[in-house]
Amino acid sequence: MGSRNSKLSVDTADEMLRSRGLRRTYTRISILQCLDARTAPVTHAEMTVLLAPLGMDGSTIFRGLNDLAEAGLVCRLDPGDRVWRFELRDDPLTPDDSPRQHPHRFCSACGRIDCLTDQNGHPSGRDVSDWQVEQIVFVGKCPECTVCPANAASG
Ligand SMILES: [Zn+2]
Ligand SMILES: [Zn+2]
Repeated sequence: MGSRNSKLSVDTADEMLRSRGLRRTYTRISILQCLDARTAPVTHAEMTVLLAPLGMDGSTIFRGLNDLAEAGLVCRLDPGDRVWRFELRDDPLTPDDSPRQHPHRFCSACGRIDCLTDQNGHPSGRDVSDWQVEQIVFVGKCPECTVCPANAASG
């Protein structure tokens, strides 16, 4: 779970909420800023830990995340382990019926998930331009989880 300082000001968070007709609440602003400070999608459990110092409980955060996801400000990912990951939409201030989110890679062994730059996810071959694509996730094993027989033998 990487983190950086949130660049999302309260004013911008406020503007995002207003653009989707959502009421401004402390919880929603805090969730948006918390997600903005993450460098990878986070689970609800991780959000609960991150926001506990602000006095928010799990169910408040869960409702907030779902409100923001339904409004199109937050993206919900399910890489296949039935645990939702949440992150900010790539372009949350642009209203779009079928927003395009950057792709991800997910390690099915350790559960690590990383954001990828957009170029890596351009579908090739069969065209999906008339599909409503919800997520692009490469599922596999990260280098740490890939046991290389040559290394194991020499090490
Ligand atoms: Zn792994
Ligand atoms: Zn991402």
